[in-house]
Amino acid sequence: VIAVAARRRVFDAKVAMLRRSHVAEFRRLQSNERLDPEAVGELTRSGALAIARYAFAASPFYRERFAAAGFSSSDLDDPGVLTNLPITEKADLRENYERVQTAEATPRNAIPQATGGSTGQPLRVMHDLRSQSHLLSWRMYQWWGVHPADAQALLWRPFNTPGTWRARGQALFAWPARTLRLNANHLDEPDMVAFLEQWERARPRLLTGYVGAVLELGRFLQESGRPITSPVAISVTAAPVTAAQKAFLHEVFGAPVFECYQCMEMPMIAGECGEGDGLHAFSDRRWLEILDDNGSPAAPGETGSVVLTDLRNRAFPLIRYRLGDRASWKTDGCRCGRPFPVLNPIGGRISDNLHLPSGLTVAGESMVSLFNAWPDAVRQFQLVQHVDQSLTLRCVRGSDPRADQIMSDVVDRLVGIVGGEVPVRLEVVEAIAHDRGKSRFILREEAGPPLDLPGQAASSSPSTSRNRPAATS
Ligand SMILES: [Zn+2]
Repeated sequence: VIAVAARRRVFDAKVAMLRRSHVAEFRRLQSNERLDPEAVGELTRSGALAIARYAFAASPFYRERFAAAGFSSSDLDDPGVLTNLPITEKADLRENYERVQTAEATPRNAIPQATGGSTGQPLRVMHDLRSQSHLLSWRMYQWWGVHPADAQALLWRPFNTPGTWRARGQALFAWPARTLRLNANHLDEPDMVAFLEQWERARPRLLTGYVGAVLELGRFLQESGRPITSPVAISVTAAPVTAAQKAFLHEVFGAPVFECYQCMEMPMIAGECGEGDGLHAFSDRRWLEILDDNGSPAAPGETGSVVLTDLRNRAFPLIRYRLGDRASWKTDGCRCGRPFPVLNPIGGRISDNLHLPSGLTVAGESMVSLFNAWPDAVRQFQLVQHVDQSLTLRCVRGSDPRADQIMSDVVDRLVGIVGGEVPVRLEVVEAIAHDRGKSRFILREEAGPPLDLPGQAASSSPSTSRNRPAATS
């Protein structure tokens, strides 16, 4: 306990000394929590108008869009116009990557990001480094009793190769916090055992990861009967988590599970507070709308399409951007009394893990990044695991002239990730169908019911272990 307190003090002192602007922004974020809902609504509207005015002046894409819709810059002083501004679709970003950027999109201010878009439709955006989105996660951690200096365990795909300057920079920024990592692309018994041994030395207070990967580790704990020092909180992201899965994780890890909503286009959109009763939209920094099929605001409880505006990205403005997720507002808010509007758990994304004959598991959600280095190579892709465990990578060819070579290289990479255990086929198709309105980015063909999600199987019948191969051969 003393070590935890000392580490927090060292970290706070370091941030106060090196990052004055972060301290100021964090104080603002904390004071926003104490505003009333009307005042937060006013912050959202004034922030949205400010970024819309800026985009009209500085982004060729938005100037043309807004002008074509009949808006002049003086119209953008009236909050009433906000809900009439045109919607930005994924295809708009894909086709206008350069024209969305403003003069502030310099290497010093902004960093390009490629994304699978959570639905297997690659596109490029830019993050504004000045928006300090990590402070939104720090505020959320506080809701859970976690401090940014606390040790964390992370189940994610590999990023920032150790030894690179970027990795060193991040480690320095995080010091003296420690992050244990487990590669979500390679979940087998030796790696999980080694990770759990590190865990007992570092005793992380927060476990963060893809739902699929955290469930896999939970199942391993349950089956092996290994004891574990409980964290304070578990944070899952990327795919929805069911109530049964949450209960299962709470039981095996001994800590509550909190959902966090984010995407590569816009980090930190919403997150649960300690009450764990819906996700608070971070509406002091993002404007989140839920629209019905006519484009009108959905009534509380009514499911609609998520449309987002980043109030802080001046390098690559995202204004009324349709993310492709479906969500609904909670009808009865949250007991905690924080002034941010509350969402029901997010639906719409479905992902499943890949399971290989040796028992190796690959977290499906991490596969969404397969084409990140070549976002123009495919318009959409989907990974299918057949009953015999072999894989098919389905792609809709994109505009990159080297698309065929890149698709074939990605197949080779996949063969490497699955350790050559099963064949990987490439199938170039014209379109990829949605499954009952849900984007299914990993599709596992199974003899069982099609919506047999991991965790439901684990909590209802522990004998149907997913990290062992099905008896097919
Ligand atoms: Zn709350």
